[in-house]
Amino acid sequence: MKRSVTILGATGSIGASTLDLIERAPDSFDVLAVTAMSDVRKLADIARRTRAKYAVIADERLLPALTEALLGTDTKADGGTAAVIGAAAMRADWTMAAIVGCAGLEPVMAAVEAGGTVVLANKEPLVSAGELILAAAERHGTTILPADSEHNAIFQCFDFARPERVRRIILTASGGPFRDMSRAEMAAVTPEQAVAHPVWSMGAKISVDSATLMNKGLELIEAARLFPIDPARIEIILHRQSIIHSLVEYVDGSMLAQLGSPDMRTPIAHTLAWPDRMETPVTPLDLASIGRLDFAAPDPERFPALRLAREALDAGGARPAVLNAANEVAVAAFLDRRIAFLDIAAIVEDTLDRYDPPAPKRIEDVVAIDREARLAAAEAMKVFVD
Ligand code: NAD
Ligand code: MG
Repeated sequence: MKRSVTILGATGSIGASTLDLIERAPDSFDVLAVTAMSDVRKLADIARRTRAKYAVIADERLLPALTEALLGTDTKADGGTAAVIGAAAMRADWTMAAIVGCAGLEPVMAAVEAGGTVVLANKEPLVSAGELILAAAERHGTTILPADSEHNAIFQCFDFARPERVRRIILTASGGPFRDMSRAEMAAVTPEQAVAHPVWSMGAKISVDSATLMNKGLELIEAARLFPIDPARIEIILHRQSIIHSLVEYVDGSMLAQLGSPDMRTPIAHTLAWPDRMETPVTPLDLASIGRLDFAAPDPERFPALRLAREALDAGGARPAVLNAANEVAVAAFLDRRIAFLDIAAIVEDTLDRYDPPAPKRIEDVVAIDREARLAAAEAMKVFVD
């Protein structure tokens, strides 16, 4: 029996890794829907190659171009953000959520409400609305699996039958491209330097997050949502080789870790085959040639994003959503060369000081908080724009 799959954010980095696995096993999967923001040519090419039933472009103005690019195929074209949500709401057996940012929130919610298995690469919705998403999954009998490499590693090591036997979760962080720089050096870095990650090849936004370590801050919140453990027991360690993807420590002193090449196809394959395993073309680890694994404590002075994320997690309510929205605005401004690298965390902190709404009760509340936080972040940013 073939399984139906949908890929939200098919033209991105995670989308490409997912498609690579799916296209190697054409007898196992039928592609239901693929979506993208604006790259019509790439989306149409993906739809043709995979014979997808639906292709949806979020920028509605590009629908005529997509329709034309799909002439002669059986793929139905659609456009607009409502159509992306509509594609997510069509039940697939397996959905990859790989849109970047809180733009993925409503599509993720729609996929979760449709049922099946929803794989979350898109971490920002979990940060902003984790409790609501997980409650919806529970209500609809939807299986949520983490594709983020750290959370996938923890998922593989965590004894869900005996969570009280877990002493700590330890998230590993590569440290990003500026891990050895002083604050003074970081003040002058460019977007090009920030997106040139030393180990992982990823989209621009998450690459900047890796450079500020906000990515690890978001992942701390993500881990607190996904795993039944006191958040105070989730720790972060720098591990520059990105070979150990995270660890779970038990009360007897055992530490279980998942290791692998820094290639997202391994965690994605784990979610595609789970609870089975599948072959991948990922280069096997050659431990002898790696030779050594290094660890170090992260420096909160040079990377204030870690503290901001920890505080938002501890405060709960709307704080993680505000943190995330402000970070999205600041990262976009940095990539646009409107602010400097160190301004990113400063703007997030200022936004958290300015805007402190009550806890969201429904997904619409999160959408509103996200929108208001973006306005507050734009206000906070005025001081920094040169
Ligand atoms: P990317 O920028 O390469 O791709 C993003 C995808 O989302 C593209 O298909 C784009 O067209 C689409 N998109 C962007 N804005 C949209 C919008 N407003 N509406 C609809 N679609 C939109 O990003 P990526 O690196 O693939 O990351 C995707 C998600 O996965 C992020 O949340 C990221 O944090 C997470 N993630 C990525 C990696 C990685 O290795 N790249 C690892 C772990 C987690
Ligand atoms: Mg990660």
